[in-house]
Parts: sequence; structure tokens; C-alpha cells
Amino acid sequence: MHTDSKIIWARCLLYIRSQISEQTYNTWFAPIVAKDFRDGILTIEVPSQFFYEWLEEHYLYLLKQAVRQEIGEQGKLAYAVIIDQGTKRQKPLVVNLPAYPGAVSSKTGFSQKEPLSDNHIFQFNPNYIFDNLVEGSCNQLAKSAAQAVAKQPGKTSFNPLMLYGGVGLGKTHIAQAIGNEIRNTLSDKKVAYISSEKFTTQFIEALRKNNMQGFTEQYLQVDMLILDDIQFLAGKEKTQEIFFHIFNHLHQSNKQIVITGDCPPRALKGLQERLLSRFKWGLMADLQCPDFETRVAIIRNKVAADGITFPSDLIDYVAQQVNTNVRELEGVLISLIAHASLTKKDINIGLAQQVLKHIVGRQQTNVEISLEMLQQEVASHYKVSLEELKSKTRKKEIVMARQVAMHLSKKYTHHSLKAIGAYFGGRDHTTVVHALHVVDNCLVTDALYAQQYASLEDRIK
Ligand code: ADP
Ligand code: MG
Repeated sequence: MHTDSKIIWARCLLYIRSQISEQTYNTWFAPIVAKDFRDGILTIEVPSQFFYEWLEEHYLYLLKQAVRQEIGEQGKLAYAVIIDQGTKRQKPLVVNLPAYPGAVSSKTGFSQKEPLSDNHIFQFNPNYIFDNLVEGSCNQLAKSAAQAVAKQPGKTSFNPLMLYGGVGLGKTHIAQAIGNEIRNTLSDKKVAYISSEKFTTQFIEALRKNNMQGFTEQYLQVDMLILDDIQFLAGKEKTQEIFFHIFNHLHQSNKQIVITGDCPPRALKGLQERLLSRFKWGLMADLQCPDFETRVAIIRNKVAADGITFPSDLIDYVAQQVNTNVRELEGVLISLIAHASLTKKDINIGLAQQVLKHIVGRQQTNVEISLEMLQQEVASHYKVSLEELKSKTRKKEIVMARQVAMHLSKKYTHHSLKAIGAYFGGRDHTTVVHALHVVDNCLVTDALYAQQYASLEDRIK
């Protein structure tokens, strides 16, 4: 009966709570809801498959104890796993206790492993500070929100703070500036910065080394978590899952979260809806291309920082010509300065014209990569035919080539997962998602594979 299950579970929780830390309890047990109790089986609902796996891996013994105490030796536990936030429910997954022999001893089950050493998540690039971030209408909102968050992490309504915009517009700069600011003014606060790519690698590594606990704990204990370039988590379901839990945990404990991405949340493809919907809780601030005046100010700042002066007509000229993003602008300034010092010429508009010609020329050869071309490259690299690549065949070498081709398609074209699937013999997007996973994994675990991938990547670029 319904109420029975609630009462039994409440008593289980009482016991569980007495055995573990408050933080662990809140993260892994508070979200569980009792659903049913009949024939000695207590069914509890957990938010995800991942959650279920985590409980089984880390808290099996504890759960077993709790259930035994409340229901008796014959007591069993079943999990109902929520597939998504909608109404779809998986058929309850019945797990007999004890599930696997000797899986968890009371000691190793509860003690926390060492946090991961060898990581730089608490370090910031000292050059990325608010003081040298030129303000313009392009970044005003983002900058002031970031400054507010740096003053009172977790205490403003900008939680999470999501900064988005195209490449080279200052997302990383602002995100790191928050970290640097807090380091200087609120030094007791723990701020972690991690790119999504690194986060994924760490996660896979932790899985491999069986140190998931160390991996998660390092993030659960911070006062602020900055995740840069969230678009890299696209299609990486497991990584999103763990980030989602870290996110929820931190948010519930009023810790600050800052996320950057290359487009607004609604346009982020391959990210779970429930994660995206969390972003609406806070503030989304976009970064735009700086306007002419801001570009001029940026150039002045950069050359001044290098101890150089540019004539102002030159500054205007460069600001006019380079109107894409700040990274590009910096690149041009660096080339200009390098050219001038190597050729011992004056830095003037004539030189700028030469330098820009090179850069524009380079850009023109950089035609957009098409899916067809990519498929051809991959096929010839792995010595399979184009037909085979698009066929239904499950032959090992062909599957591998196909997966790599899909991965490169995702990386180098703007096609959706659905479109990519269609190009590969009418497969659906889940096949593509799977391929992305497989390749991501192989890239981390198999050096030879990674080498081959890199050389293929070079040819495509
Ligand atoms: P993103 O992460 O959005 O791709 P970055 O933060 O890496 O961009 O910025 C690219 C470069 O441009 C960095 O060197 C950064 O310091 C510089 N930059 C971006 N915006 C500004 C700005 N408003 N003022 C000064 N430098 C900037
Ligand atoms: Mg960046």
C-alpha cells in the first residue's frame, strides 16, 4: 500500500541518514521517493538510470541493511527509474538484495576515496581579469552580471549564470575573471573552473579508474562551479547526467554555477531538456561582436599592454577591417607586431594591408567542409568504399570507419544529428549519438586510434 511504503522508507532513511554524511544523504537519498510496498518488495523511485547505478555501486550494503531492518530478512528492494521528466516510467526494475556477492563491504562502501590529484580546476589564468576586459554594449550585461556574481556568489538571482556567444567574444575571459576576482576578494570561497571537454575526459578517466566518488566529491564541495563551453557535452549522455546531479546539488545548497556556451540554451543541440530548463532559473547573458568603438578601445588596450603605440589611423583601419571577434583581432595585432619586428618595417597602414591580405587569403581557402567530402576522406583513409560506409553492414572495420566519419561530421559541419544519420544510409540520430560516444571513448583510451583520428582530422582541415 501507498502509505506503507512511505512509512517504511522514512524509517529506512532515518537509519541511512545516521550512517552517512549530510552531503551524501542530500545528494543521493533525499531525492528518492517511495512508490510501493507489496509482497515484501519496497519499490523506490530514483531520478535516473545513472542514479540507480550509483546507489547500487556505492550504497548497496547500506540499503540492504536498512531494508533488512525494516522489512526483515526476506525484504527486497526494487527500483523504478524515471526515464525522463515526463510521465514515461520504465517498468520497475526489480533488484534482489544482495545483488552481487561481496560487492560492498561496510568500510569501502562508505568511506570517500581521495579526491583526484593532478588537476587544475582551482587555477585561473591571471591575464583574464575584469580590469582588462573592455566594456561595450556587446558585453555589458554579461560583465556586470559576472561582477555581481563574483561579489556575492550564490546570493544573487543570477544562478545559474549562463554566458553565451560565438567564439572569441570573451566567454572564457569573463568566466575566469570571476574566479580571479573571488580568489582576491573572498579567498575562503572555493571556485572550480573546468572546460566541458576536460570535464568529460576526467569523467571517463574516473570511470576507468573506478574513482567516480573522488570525481564527484571534488565538485560537490565547491562554492562555485564554472563550466566552460557546455556545447561540448552535446550527445554525451552520461557526462550530462553526472553534471546534472552536481548542478542540482550545488544549486540546492545555494552554491553558484556559471556556464558558458556557444549559443543560447534553446539552440544547444544534443543537451538534455531537463538540464537546459535549469538555465531558466537564473540569468542568460549574451556576448555580441564588439562594435567599432569597442574594437578601437580593445586595440588601444592591447597595444598599450605590449608597450607599443599605433598611429590612430592604423587603429581605425584595423578596427574597420577585422569585425568578426576579439580573438581574431588579437591575432591580427600579433601578426602585425611580429611582421614589423621581423622585417624592421614601421607599423603603418601599408603593413596592415599586407598582413590582412594574408589573413583574408587564408580564410578564403578555408571553405566549409561538406559531409560528402568528409565521407570520402574517411572512406579512403580506412580503405572502405563510400557505399560500404553508408550501408547497413556491421563488419567491424566498416563500423569503425562509419563511427569516425559521424564524429567528424558532428565536429566539422553544422548538420544536426538527424541529418548526419540520414547521410549515413538513413540511420536515426540515436545511432549517431552512440557513434559519438564510442569515438569519444576510444579517443581517450586508445592512443593508436587517437593518432589515426588526428591525422585524418589534419587532412580534412
Ligand atoms: P571565447 O571564450 O568566447 O571564445 P575568449 O574569452 O577566449 O573567447 O576571448 C578571446 C580573446 O579575446 C581573449 O584573449 C580575451 O582576453 C580577448 N577578449 C575578449 N573580449 C575582450 C574584451 N571585451 N576586452 C579585451 N579583451 C577581450
Ligand atoms: Mg572559450
